[in-house]
Amino acid sequence: MYHRIEENCIGCGACMRACPVEAISGNKKELHRIDGKLCIDCGSCGRVCPAAAVRGPDNRIVARLKKSEWLKPRILEDKCLACENCVAACPTGALIMKDDSLPLQQNCAVLFYHEKCVSCNWCFKNCQFDAISMEVFSENN
Ligand code: SF4
Ligand code: SF4
Ligand code: SF4
Repeated sequence: MYHRIEENCIGCGACMRACPVEAISGNKKELHRIDGKLCIDCGSCGRVCPAAAVRGPDNRIVARLKKSEWLKPRILEDKCLACENCVAACPTGALIMKDDSLPLQQNCAVLFYHEKCVSCNWCFKNCQFDAISMEVFSENN
């Protein structure tokens, strides 16, 4: 299953610009399409769609959400074992390791490029050590 675009798409292109894996195609003001072979089910297309035209794998229309309200990973340093699974899983390169010169016990992943994070949840799903909490980040944290 993957995300799909419904007939009420207005062809604004917002989804295409938001997709981290270039799975969406379509001409301006025409129905856009998602290539299911490329889609990683991040949901970004639905969160930015002004026409509520994107349906998720659960068959529900994805709700629009301001970017400032997207959930992003907070790495819990005391739980992170620096396995780098999350860094490898991230489709946008938003995560890095703090400092590879540190011993493993002191190193950890960090969300370094906040603006690149598309809230796909893949880092969270790929952490086997419960070291990631998905949260709304305010300017102060
Ligand atoms: S769900 Fe994510 S990967 Fe799939 S088409 Fe939408 S933006 Fe692209
Ligand atoms: S939610 Fe995690 S895996 Fe997805 S883009 Fe953000 S940092 Fe990368
Ligand atoms: S997957 Fe979990 S344990 Fe591994 S580096 Fe990322 S946060 Fe740390």
